Amino acid sequence: MNPHHPLTRREALKKFGAGAALLGLGALATQAPGAEVEIAPGAGTTAQPFVLPKLGYAFNALEPHIDARTMEIHYTKHHQAYIDNANKALAGHADLQRLSGEEILQNLFSVPEAMRGALRNNVGGHLNHSLFWRIIGPGGGGVPGGDLAVAITKSFSSFDTFRAQFGDTALKQFGSGWAWLVVKGGVLTIMATANQDSPLSDGAVPILGLDVWEHAYYLNYQNRRADYIKAFWNVVNWSQAGANYLAAARV
Ligand code: MN
Repeated sequence: MNPHHPLTRREALKKFGAGAALLGLGALATQAPGAEVEIAPGAGTTAQPFVLPKLGYAFNALEPHIDARTMEIHYTKHHQAYIDNANKALAGHADLQRLSGEEILQNLFSVPEAMRGALRNNVGGHLNHSLFWRIIGPGGGGVPGGDLAVAITKSFSSFDTFRAQFGDTALKQFGSGWAWLVVKGGVLTIMATANQDSPLSDGAVPILGLDVWEHAYYLNYQNRRADYIKAFWNVVNWSQAGANYLAAARV
């Protein structure tokens, strides 16, 4: 590669076989084929180098549902570690550094195998947490409105049924992982991922996610994951989830 003419982001995508995969993800591509790909704001903006996104509220703002100490450690230590490790894994890989976090995760199986595990875990960890901080917040809870409410009723018959199924998925995730409400193939659905795997790597766009790693709840809830899941519903920012849905549903 001529160092004076580094690859553009589009060329980098093409080089890594990502172009076709991205075009298949109409939900995230907001421009015509051949144009630079733009990521919908609802999916998060994650240009490199990755940095810790601003938390829009105080560590104690979600008490008593999520305690301040858990929030502080989770945000400043766990999330920061994923960011540091992702940046470290990508250091010296100029082609991959032109991609957003979303683009890397959507095309995970096109990146060099030697790096894949580190990117899966750490870029995944960064994006998963970046979404999580936004879909929870003070003054949360209640029920969704607008198009998301209509879509939930369409997919799950009622909000209560959705909440029960999502909670069940979160409870049954064995070990560390996440429960998700996603749009996949134009349909709103629930899925779980292990570790820091992202729905983006499975062709889905996350709308709402619940971190069920023990680091997310152990200080306050110890082994009582069910209580933590119940508390989660009191801090969900349905306005943000609704915005995520609109961005994902836009084709
Ligand atoms: Mn976490």
